[in-house]
Amino acid sequence: GLSAESYRRRNEITVTGDNVPPPFTTFEATGFSSEILREVHNAGFSAPTPIQAQSWPIALQSKDIVAIAKTGSGKTLGYLIPGFVHLKRSRNNPQLGPTVLVLSPTRELASQIQEEAVKFGKSSRISCTCLYGGAPKGPQLRDIDRGSDIVVATPGRLNDILEMRRISLHQVSYLVLDEADRMLDMGFEPQIRKIVKEVPSRRQTLMYTATWPKEVRKIAADLLINPVQVNIGNVD
Ligand code: ADP
Ligand code: MG
Repeated sequence: GLSAESYRRRNEITVTGDNVPPPFTTFEATGFSSEILREVHNAGFSAPTPIQAQSWPIALQSKDIVAIAKTGSGKTLGYLIPGFVHLKRSRNNPQLGPTVLVLSPTRELASQIQEEAVKFGKSSRISCTCLYGGAPKGPQLRDIDRGSDIVVATPGRLNDILEMRRISLHQVSYLVLDEADRMLDMGFEPQIRKIVKEVPSRRQTLMYTATWPKEVRKIAADLLINPVQVNIGNVD
């Protein structure tokens, strides 16, 4: 409708795909649970950021997404909150492996994502484990054994743990590649491809990137199915 068009124009949102739903311009429009809305309110947020407003309704329809938006635009909650909704629908047993898997390029970024997941998912009783290199494996393996709904991991460490057969990804049905361009720049493509081979093909896949060079387009074409593409601002 007209209001969707004017919201997109005002916020420099461009969308490509079939039947793209209108953006959620307010938190009330999202239909998120009262637990999630309370956390968002407690954080002092007044409205969804443009990437959240446009990618939430698409993600809630279980569609694949490529989101291209610069740093600081609120991408983390852009994929985490629909992930929480997905978790509630899936009713998997976390003891058997995670349902949501987020790949992130660095230990620091992975830790920040886990903090956000813990903060916003706590009242929804969502558990999250973080796996990264440069730290002993023991505590991370113990966290896996305890079971968790969400695993946030750097590709190198997750691949090591997969080779040890200490984690199962057979329940993963919501896969996020965060900072995909940076993961490829860091040389993680082989590890990403090995990890994705362990994830069932019946899944929702979301890719977030700040830039859209041909290497990122190629891996998106290989791993996503008929994605809706959301661009914020002047990214090419
Ligand atoms: P990106 O991944 O796009 O670089 P982040 O997800 O790290 O951005 O978000 C940047 C900052 O904005 C974080 O501190 C986050 O808590 C905050 N933030 C996220 N969503 C909102 C919102 N709707 N309103 C205000 N601040 C937000
Ligand atoms: Mg980010």
